[in-house]
Amino acid sequence: MRITNRQQTYLTLVGVTALLVASCSQPTAEETQKNEVEAIFPQGEKGPSENFTGNAYNYGLVPDDSTYTTLVGNVYFEPGARSNWHTHPAGQILIITDGVGYHQIEGEPRQTLQKGDVVQCPPNTRHWHGASPDTGMQQLYIVPNTEKGIVEWMEPVTDEQYNNTK
Ligand code: MN
Repeated sequence: MRITNRQQTYLTLVGVTALLVASCSQPTAEETQKNEVEAIFPQGEKGPSENFTGNAYNYGLVPDDSTYTTLVGNVYFEPGARSNWHTHPAGQILIITDGVGYHQIEGEPRQTLQKGDVVQCPPNTRHWHGASPDTGMQQLYIVPNTEKGIVEWMEPVTDEQYNNTK
């Protein structure tokens, strides 16, 4: 098939336009995955600085009541943000829905968490959870048997503790 000059010009324009669109487009999937976290629920309310280091946001999904005696919600930790040390009188289940974060039970190595991980924090066990330094973490939390209590807040996780991989 012969390509006329006019067709050639048109094809060149299409090619140049495609290049321009590609070079000005969104970050690649890899870049997006590294630094951004996909939200499922509204961001919610910023957690108080007496219980969190950095910015963490809580959005309640199932309120604590006498029928279910179970509290469910979503927390988004910005990069570097984490909870204080704390315990749950009846334990807690975490379900990670996006990002990269950490969970540590006192006396055990820090665990790295990512999308799809499920963590069971035993009752009355000192622990903390939060985001990694470079990527935020989105987690669902489930606190069962709330008639026993929900959370006992303790001291902040120091930078040394946060960065300790052992
Ligand atoms: Mn907890």
